[in-house]
Amino acid sequence: MTVAYIGLGSNLDGPVDQLNTAVKALGGLPDSRLDAVSPYYANPPMGPQDQPDFVNGVARLLTGLAPLELLDALQRIEQQQGRVRRRRWGERSLDLDLLLYGNLRLDLPRLRVPHPGLRERAFVLRPLADLAPDLQVPGLGDIAALLSRVDSDDLKPLASRSTPCPASP
Ligand code: ATP
Ligand code: CA
Ligand code: CA
Repeated sequence: MTVAYIGLGSNLDGPVDQLNTAVKALGGLPDSRLDAVSPYYANPPMGPQDQPDFVNGVARLLTGLAPLELLDALQRIEQQQGRVRRRRWGERSLDLDLLLYGNLRLDLPRLRVPHPGLRERAFVLRPLADLAPDLQVPGLGDIAALLSRVDSDDLKPLASRSTPCPASP
């Protein structure tokens, strides 16, 4: 079994419910066991600003699936939850990114691991650090040091993973 970290994101159709549904689906993947889920955070969108805030979190999965099999499974879950591609970094009901797959480093057209956005994104680093404060990210080093280099002021922890997402001000 390999320890994989999956980034969860949504800003459409009930983001917190979307993440909770995705977490359940991850728990049902073959040859895999859901190990932990981070707190969720609300945060401003990264791309176009004329879209709702995102809710983000990270799940830790122990899996016997190969990296591309896992990516296929993640994309199937996105589809099941009605993902439609509209514009780059635009609004979506669910985004599942494979952040880390053990200590593997991979640079394929379909799959780059560690996820290339990880190092700049507070909404990924913070929940990763919540789950694994001593994590060493392959090629990038200590999670705490990575987190200290990004601005996480705009991340708002949500009270609970199962309560509705507060409306944006
Ligand atoms: P970003 O990848 O910058 O977070 P995004 O999540 O909006 O942007 P998507 O439209 O969801 O991007 O995915 C585009 C493609 O990225 C997918 O078709 C997939 O093949 C590829 N991809 C490469 N590496 C990964 C990874 N580690 N996890 C998920 N998808 C990846
Ligand atoms: Ca993404
Ligand atoms: Ca994605």
